[in-house]
Parts: sequence; structure tokens; C-alpha cells
Amino acid sequence: MFGPRECPRLVVKIGSSLLVSDEGRIRRDWLSSLVSEVAERQANGQKIILVSSGAIALGARLLGLEGGGRKSLDDAQASAAAGQIALSQCWAELLDNHGIKAAQMLVTLGDLEERRSYLNAAATLDRLLRLEAVPLINENDSVATQEIRFGDNDRLAARIGQAARADGIILLSDVAGLFSADPKSHEDAELINTVEHLDDEIVAMAQGTSGMGSGGMKSKIEAARIATTAGIPLAIISGQHQAPLSRYAESGTGTVFAAEGETSAREAWMAGRLTAAGRIVVDSGAVTALRDGNSLLPAGVTTVEGSFDRGDIVDIVDESGNLIGRGLVEYASAAVDRIKGHKSTDLESILGYAPRPALVHRNHMVTL
Ligand code: GLU
Repeated sequence: MFGPRECPRLVVKIGSSLLVSDEGRIRRDWLSSLVSEVAERQANGQKIILVSSGAIALGARLLGLEGGGRKSLDDAQASAAAGQIALSQCWAELLDNHGIKAAQMLVTLGDLEERRSYLNAAATLDRLLRLEAVPLINENDSVATQEIRFGDNDRLAARIGQAARADGIILLSDVAGLFSADPKSHEDAELINTVEHLDDEIVAMAQGTSGMGSGGMKSKIEAARIATTAGIPLAIISGQHQAPLSRYAESGTGTVFAAEGETSAREAWMAGRLTAAGRIVVDSGAVTALRDGNSLLPAGVTTVEGSFDRGDIVDIVDESGNLIGRGLVEYASAAVDRIKGHKSTDLESILGYAPRPALVHRNHMVTL
């Protein structure tokens, strides 16, 4: 699983608690066992991207800040700035011991939500991989405001996997995977080995489990959704032993979320976005029509939320708020509000101009 042959491009995300000890020091022995594995895989033809957390935890000790540097946003941003130097220096040194060049990219959520920057990041990743360098990614915590923050590296890893057209994503965590219940309080909790379809039952299981890693199980499930919708399988495995990738290759212990559906690169980018300009609520008839592959027509719309322009990306949700799809909207929010619930033949008299056939055309939409 996730070996060089079936997975020529692999993203590996490493959580802070694995990388940094409680005293705020890099766990160098563990890290160097992981780097040896990365080097071996690279020698076998696998191209690896590392998404590394740990800057805040490291920087907090360097700057003498309490609470792991997370007492305020200012503290976290200052810690990240100081810690990132130590973090990337350590990775670069360990990789260099194997003759591998590390290349650092710090990105924000905003960078990857904006289509042109996303394509630029994708091109840089591709170039680095072709040059046999190992991209080392973290969130640009020091400049990211609340609105443009990922806040966790799980979702960042999934977005990076998409941008790099990876064949697999591994989240190294302080738990062994997704359990049927919280293993801390339920002795009979079972590790779920494979998730073929990420449905509501799985989401509920993740909510029942707690305290796992900095991002928690919720952000890991969100990462799995982004990855699998883009056709990329994602595994959550334990990083609590030396050489965790080889251990996983031998034991297969962990949770794999299987890739779902085939989407184009553009659809995958749209589906994986974490922000939308607004929401269009639709009735049950429209939900069925959308799932059958039809465009969204005004007749099925019940409510419009947010303020958006023509060409913006909007979420399409059912009346209970479940996300049904996402797409480029053909009308501004004020116009949608006027034509909602109306038949397409009535639109010209309402708007005073010849309407576009659909609110969101099926060619510019992805259903989720
Ligand atoms: N970017 C943060 C750091 O390097 C970690 C985010 C996370 O916990 O996932 O410290």
C-alpha cells in the first residue's frame, strides 16, 4: 500500500506531536528514521512531498512563550516565524545526509483558493519533483489571518496532494486510524481498515472520537473528503514508532479512505476549496435532478445566502444544509433572489433581459 509502484507521487504529512517533544525539541531520532525511509523510497522511484507541522511548537520554546505558543494568534504567528527556521534546517540537514535537496514552500489557504496561485504552486511542485528535490510544505502561519488560514495541516496536505496530482496521501498521526468509537473510553472500539465511501455514518464516528493530534479527527476526515473527491486515496496511520512508513507497509494497520469518482483537475480544485462566496438552498426535487447530472434551474431554489457576483463559486445545499454540490453561478445573488422558485419561461419578464438557461450549469458544477 502506498508503495513506489502503485503510488509514484506520495504526500506525507507529519503532525506536531510526532515531530516535537513535550519540551519543545525536535525528536531527531524519530525524524531521522523517517527520512531514511523517504530516501529509500526515493531511490526506488517514488516522489515524496512532505507537509510538516511543528513550527509553532518549536518556536514557542525558542522564544520562551508559554502554552506551546498558542495562547494568542500573535504568539502563534511569532512562534511559527522562529520555529520554521529550525524546522526546515533540521529537515534539510537530515535529507542532505542522504544527498537529497529539500525545497521549502510556505502557503496559505488563500494562495490555494485563488486559481492562478494554485496553478503556480502546482507548477512549482511539479518542477521540484522532476528535479528530484523533496518539497517541504507548511502553512505560512506568520502572515495568515483567520480568514485565510487552513489552521491545520491535514487539509493543507490534501490540497497539496491535489495540486501535485499525487497518487496517495498519508497522514502520520498519534493514533492508529479511525475507530468505530473513542478508543480511550470504549474497550471494544474497532479500527476501521477501509472506508469505501465517506458517508454520514463515518463522519459521526469521527465526531465520537476526540483529542487526536493538533487537527483532531474532524480535520482528517475533511482532508479525506478533499483527497478522495479528487480521486486520491488517503491513509491515516500511526507515527508513534520509528520508521512508520515501513511498519505500515508490513502491517497494513491504519485507515484507508478509497478514492471516489473521477473528476477533472478543475472540478477537483473547485470541490476541494474550503471557501465559497455564498449558498443556494434547493428543494428535494432539485437535489434529485442535480444528482442525476442536470444543471441547477431557478425553479428548485428556495433561499439565497450571501452576496455573490456572476462567476463566483457557490455552495449548493439541501434544505437541511447538507452540501450537494458546488459550481460557478451564472447570476449575481440579487438576481437569484428575484428568480428563485420561478419557471425558466418566466425569467425574461422578471429580469427584463434574456436569461441564461441555468443558474449553475452542469459543466461548471461538481456534485459531492
Ligand atoms: N502549521 C502549524 C505548525 O507548523 C501546525 C498546524 C497543525 O497543527 O496542523 O506548527
